[in-house]
Amino acid sequence: MDVKKTAGRPRIVIIGGGFGGINLAKKLKNKPVDVLMLDKHNYHTFQPLLYQVAMGSIEADSIGFPIRRIFTDQKNFSFNLAEVKTINSEKNTITADIGEIEYDYLVIATGANTNFFGNKEIEHFTMPMKNIGEALNIRSFMLQNLEKAVIEKDYNEREALLTFVVVGGGPTGVELSGALAELRNHVLCKDYPTLCEEDMKVYLIVVLGAMSPTASAAAKKTLTEMGVVISNSVHVKSYDGCKLLVDDGTVIETRNVFWAAGVMGEVPEGMAAGCITRGNRINTDDISRVMGYTNIFAIGDVAAMITPATPNGIPGMAQGAIQTGKHLAKNLMHLIDGQPTVPFKYFDKGSLATIGQNKAVADIWKLHFHGFIAWLLWMFVHLMSLVGFSNKLSVFTSWAIKYFTKNTDDRLIVRFFNTKTRMTDPETK
Ligand SMILES: Cc1cc2nc3c(=O)[nH]c(=O)nc-3n(C[C@H](O)[C@H](O)[C@H](O)COP(=O)(O)OP(=O)(O)OC[C@H]3O[C@@H](n4cnc5c(N)ncnc54)[C@H](O)[C@@H]3O)c2cc1C
Repeated sequence: MDVKKTAGRPRIVIIGGGFGGINLAKKLKNKPVDVLMLDKHNYHTFQPLLYQVAMGSIEADSIGFPIRRIFTDQKNFSFNLAEVKTINSEKNTITADIGEIEYDYLVIATGANTNFFGNKEIEHFTMPMKNIGEALNIRSFMLQNLEKAVIEKDYNEREALLTFVVVGGGPTGVELSGALAELRNHVLCKDYPTLCEEDMKVYLIVVLGAMSPTASAAAKKTLTEMGVVISNSVHVKSYDGCKLLVDDGTVIETRNVFWAAGVMGEVPEGMAAGCITRGNRINTDDISRVMGYTNIFAIGDVAAMITPATPNGIPGMAQGAIQTGKHLAKNLMHLIDGQPTVPFKYFDKGSLATIGQNKAVADIWKLHFHGFIAWLLWMFVHLMSLVGFSNKLSVFTSWAIKYFTKNTDDRLIVRFFNTKTRMTDPETK
């Protein structure tokens, strides 16, 4: 195992190289500790642009960055590609698929996964989008269904293949449905001359509950103008791969349901049931220490820091993970040095969601605005937040090409999505 352990120096093990883990590890640079990061992927993922990978707007590689490369210059850092299975707190070890690893301080930064609310049928038939693999599945699945639609003789089946439903009330639902509408309005007739815009339908079930009423109303208006059919304040009851049933009685016949309706904390086994709270998140105190433990901490999406200032926990957004990660680095050093810790305070920088070219909504402190300025701001923030110069350049180039041509080049089916096994397959459709 590629693990540094210096005699007399505490070892901090971080599970997860997402926004939280990466920012924590960076802040520990040159400190008298050994940092070991474990992640089941060898790269950091920039999740906010997953939907653009799914829609074939940008390359998959441009939103990932190798974790080892991020820390090339950090001498007290090491990385192992490993999936952590169990935390053995009584022994101060974790069990991963590469073996058992000791820690002095453990930080759980494993993020969140898709929440299907226990509905196995919905889990089986809908398409989630939490990582690059799943975004590529959506890309293949969508393009395969468009290809099938072109040759389908049965009218109803053709219509179902060309009907796309996005379920989700957050920015992801808005962004995905907006991108589908753009594909329909600008690309469909060019790439598939036997199809026309009216053939493809895009539905969004629930809109922007997570943003201000002003932003939600602006997003709804813009999406409607782009041809997205929005069903507000309703819930999906069931989906069997063909018929989607909504609780207001609506039935939509569709082969494409993209699920962005909820998340739940991704908690490795072994944590006491008492520290798990709403949304399967780990309850921590105001220095990110897991309730009931002395040397285990949780940051980012997997953590619920429920304090009087944040009664619903820190928002499950990149800023929450970045800020808790950076702050924990300071407090870990205070603990190691025997100094008093400093409680975490969340600084809300606002939220942004893009709907399409020249169209975005923004909630920045008390300001709510939408349109071109919000879109420019969204692009700037996302471009600057991407890890790696090559990624910034690649995404910027793709966006520039899309801006002038209203088209993109990344609509490849590099691996088929097998609709029976619900897995990707290099050969079988
Ligand atoms: C589609 C989408 C769009 C989003 N858009 C926005 C947006 O516009 N703005 C915004 O602020 N936020 C957005 N978010 C949310 C934001 O990405 C998250 O809040 C943020 O990534 C959380 O960071 P994290 O470090 O807690 O977890 P993550 O970034 O999810 O990282 C967790 C890491 O842990 C690893 N891991 C998990 N389990 C294990 C295990 N058992 N063993 C080893 N490794 C493991 C994973 O591989 C991953 O690398 C979006 C999220 C998604 C999915």
